[in-house]
Amino acid sequence: MTIKMLTVAGGGVLGSQIAYQAAYKGFPVTIYDINEDALNAAKKRVAALQPSYQTDLNVNETDFKAGVSRLTYTSDLAKAVKQADLVIEAIPENLDLKTKFYQQISELAPATAIFSSNSSSLLPSQLAPATSHPERLLNMHFANHIWVNNTAEIMGSPKTDPEVYREVVAFAKAIGMIPIQLKKEHPSYILNSLLTPLMVSGMSLWVNGVADPQTIDKTWMLATGAEMGPFAILDMIGARTLTAVPLPKTMDPDGQITAKLKQRLAEGKLGMESGEGFYHY
Ligand code: NAD
Repeated sequence: MTIKMLTVAGGGVLGSQIAYQAAYKGFPVTIYDINEDALNAAKKRVAALQPSYQTDLNVNETDFKAGVSRLTYTSDLAKAVKQADLVIEAIPENLDLKTKFYQQISELAPATAIFSSNSSSLLPSQLAPATSHPERLLNMHFANHIWVNNTAEIMGSPKTDPEVYREVVAFAKAIGMIPIQLKKEHPSYILNSLLTPLMVSGMSLWVNGVADPQTIDKTWMLATGAEMGPFAILDMIGARTLTAVPLPKTMDPDGQITAKLKQRLAEGKLGMESGEGFYHY
């Protein structure tokens, strides 16, 4: 594998997790974000991972801190990508923003760098036109809480070089992920193609007064043996992320579900992130 130097763009919920997981596995990682405030927030997010690594993976303080020591933070994009073999982009889910970002890094990163997007809803073929090297771009989509939910769904565009795809599969393995190799582009990948209808159906049962969130979760868990129901999953993903990507009209024809999620966002009930969602944390 030729990937040695990693840059993660966006130190938010997912970017901080991806960056730390790679650093924990031994990669030097540069985290790029827009300004000092955002970088400080990213540092806090990384520090907040320690109890989870300890509880879930039995990682002691020394080993956790060794991972932290491999992280570098900068708001200077040119510096951030100058030596990157792989840039993992985890900036907000907005095509214009991402397009501008790929245009910029196409100028600043080495011509050999691979660009990988964590986008939940945009296809690599929508992002590739913004780069001068569409054959070096693909999507690698991580799940929230990547240290335990360790899938990396890898999806190329028709233009992605198969060798680049293989490199990214090897990288995913090297940072402890299980690469899920999609054979073609598909909106929502495998995971969200399954998960979104479950969450939307749960929300629909609730907003239509059929049952409360706890009863709906209990039914799903008891009957399938799953550890979480749709509302616990909604809390884990968080209202911010859920409202960032519009639901297809077919799933929310009268807009009721979106309105309910936006209302909860306005009330600060973001889910695990804010300590309150459908459950308390
Ligand atoms: P977030 O809002 O938590 O973080 C986004 C980060 O990007 C922030 O730190 C912000 O300061 C930074 N940012 C904003 N504009 C930027 C720019 N122009 N350049 C660089 N950084 C910029 O978002 P998130 O939830 O981490 O999502 C990021 C990406 O990951 C999205 O594409 C999303 O679809 C995807 N994703 C999210 C989840 C999830 O559960 N949160 C899961 C899988 C994939």
